[in-house]
Amino acid sequence: MADKIVVGGVSVDTRHWIGGERVASDETFTDASPIDGSVIGEISRGGPAEARAAVAAARDAFPSWAATPRAERARILHAIADGVEKRIEELAIVETTDNGALLRSHRRGVMPRVAHNFRFFADWLLKLGHEDFETRGHNNHVSWDPAGPCVLITPWNAPLMLATWKVAPALAAGNTVVLKPAEWSPLTASLLADIAAEAGLPAGVLNVVQGYGSEIGDALTSHPDVRRISFTGSVPTARRIAASAAANLTPLSLELGGKSPLLVFADADLDLAVELAVEQYDNAGQVCLAATRILVEESIATEFTRRFEEKAAALTQGDPRDEATDIGPNIHPRQLQKIDGFVRRAIEGGARAVIGGHPGDGQYYAPTLLTEVAQDSEIVQEEVFGPVLTLQTFADEDEAVRLANDTRFGLAATVATGDPERAERVTAQLVAGTVWVNCFFVRDLQAPFGGSRHSGVGREGGTWSFDFYCDLKNTVTAP
Ligand code: NAD
Repeated sequence: MADKIVVGGVSVDTRHWIGGERVASDETFTDASPIDGSVIGEISRGGPAEARAAVAAARDAFPSWAATPRAERARILHAIADGVEKRIEELAIVETTDNGALLRSHRRGVMPRVAHNFRFFADWLLKLGHEDFETRGHNNHVSWDPAGPCVLITPWNAPLMLATWKVAPALAAGNTVVLKPAEWSPLTASLLADIAAEAGLPAGVLNVVQGYGSEIGDALTSHPDVRRISFTGSVPTARRIAASAAANLTPLSLELGGKSPLLVFADADLDLAVELAVEQYDNAGQVCLAATRILVEESIATEFTRRFEEKAAALTQGDPRDEATDIGPNIHPRQLQKIDGFVRRAIEGGARAVIGGHPGDGQYYAPTLLTEVAQDSEIVQEEVFGPVLTLQTFADEDEAVRLANDTRFGLAATVATGDPERAERVTAQLVAGTVWVNCFFVRDLQAPFGGSRHSGVGREGGTWSFDFYCDLKNTVTAP
């Protein structure tokens, strides 16, 4: 196995990063590009031994990093952000090659926000106050103590963005980290390790291990020295992680799947509503927050569908490195089969494809809109994670809310209406971690982020991230 591979002109280390050193495994796994299925390279395939080594490195580095003054921790996080900003172009091409998401959005949206993630949590750390209050003359002093080594496990659909939403606050809080990126998109986590080392992050504070979750995961999540586990991914994996973490009662943050609704009322700005609906094909539908269930008021359904078809027809599907492309490939042949299975079963069950309904060339799936779908059908209830939307109609507000809430998920919801009072009434009844009114995907790191029901456990963002990554301590001092 080559220690380094060149991806889009960028050198990427294929080994783990443990205790400030590159460590190779004897075994490897093959990383392929969804753009054309070509092999990118062989990556170190970690197992329990690498997991134990990485947690040990994180444990050993913890006391010194936890004791590092906040201002110094914040300075190093800003230096990491500087390093990300210097390498935006490199990170963008590597991530696009690895997971097939659009180069233009990596360049102009995602990677600048990755840098921002570090700056934001560095600055928030410096603002984090110590609360003091008095009880019968005694002083209560509440402090945010670092918790210890954290295991952070992330998916492939937005690899570096999702990883740094966790890495940045975990490090800012004074914790050490073992990051396990998804095996379908392992590369930018390796570049992050380089950037962090160049920025002066001490050895062992950030460790990156590669491999299949089924092989390395359990050894990470069941390790008694791990003090926090933050996971973004699917519900079945979350169940396994929760069971594995139970032995040590390790606190968990779980950001999981969704089947979010877009409610379009007859009083909505129809052009905006159609725009919001078509936006759900972003990242080839591989967005946890995507509003994949479009619920439209009966009286405007025909006109809405006509305009949707028109707008969707203008989307360009193709090579994600091309600036003109709107929809790229799906991540893996297995994922493509899964998407097609969902669509076929829906059509066999009576659904009608308004557009799409079939795979395209290579690893691309035609943007699909299905109507005539039953509320209790698989296509309405289960997350597809591809460019597949359903359209249902409702007669009134009550029915809209009932349909919107009638899945086991509760990640997000979007409401399109021209009536502010209706917006207030409806949003108050929706079960979702985030609700957008006449907009979509506006995300501020100050806000709590997470899902209800099977979409997750806990919230991250701003103070909520520090709540999770810190051990809060109250010290009571006698007068
Ligand atoms: P996944 O659950 O298959 O894998 C996610 C990660 O978990 C990968 O790194 C994988 O290697 C690891 N893993 C697998 N088995 C493990 C085990 N037993 N122990 C420890 N780790 C293990 O999910 P995926 O297919 O990569 O991601 C797609 C899912 O992620 C979708 O359901 C999507 O909605 C969800 N997601 C949620 C959010 C959110 O913020 N709520 C964001 C993005 C994606």
